[in-house]
Amino acid sequence: MNHCEFCGKESTLLCDGPVVDGERVSMEAAVGKTKGTCNAHVCRKCAKKIGDMHVNRGGKGSGFTSIDLCPQCLKAQGDRYASTGH
Ligand SMILES: [Zn+2]
Ligand SMILES: [Zn+2]
Repeated sequence: MNHCEFCGKESTLLCDGPVVDGERVSMEAAVGKTKGTCNAHVCRKCAKKIGDMHVNRGGKGSGFTSIDLCPQCLKAQGDRYASTGH
């Protein structure tokens, strides 16, 4: 099993945050750049879901997968996805 890099619990997700030149950047900053993905192991509790992405699974049809960010990538997004309700 994989462990969350942030709390050590079981990780079920990989961070989808964009990485450009080794730096975690915001989604906007990564547009049009050659980018990698953070891919940090992160658990459901530490990850922040910021949306859904439409994926085409070829012959198996299409569907949605969630876009999840690890705490570090979330920080790179500025206050855009900061928790609301205060
Ligand atoms: Zn965690
Ligand atoms: Zn990340």
